[in-house]
Amino acid sequence: MSQDKTGQTEGPDEGQAKLNPGDDAPPGTPGTGEDVCPKCSGRGRLGAEPCPECGGSGVVIKGLAGG
Ligand SMILES: [Zn+2]
Repeated sequence: MSQDKTGQTEGPDEGQAKLNPGDDAPPGTPGTGEDVCPKCSGRGRLGAEPCPECGGSGVVIKGLAGG
């Protein structure tokens, strides 16, 4: 068979919004909210380089449930 792999993946959506490694969900997702990036403490950078965890934004998206 020659069928392209066209979005038959299961699990959380991927490719809709660009997520940083520290994000739990895309921005605006119900039940989630911005939180200060624990990696860079909200600075958005580690030393001279942008923080890879939050992509330099200083915040990450975290689920609110379970706190
Ligand atoms: Zn960060």
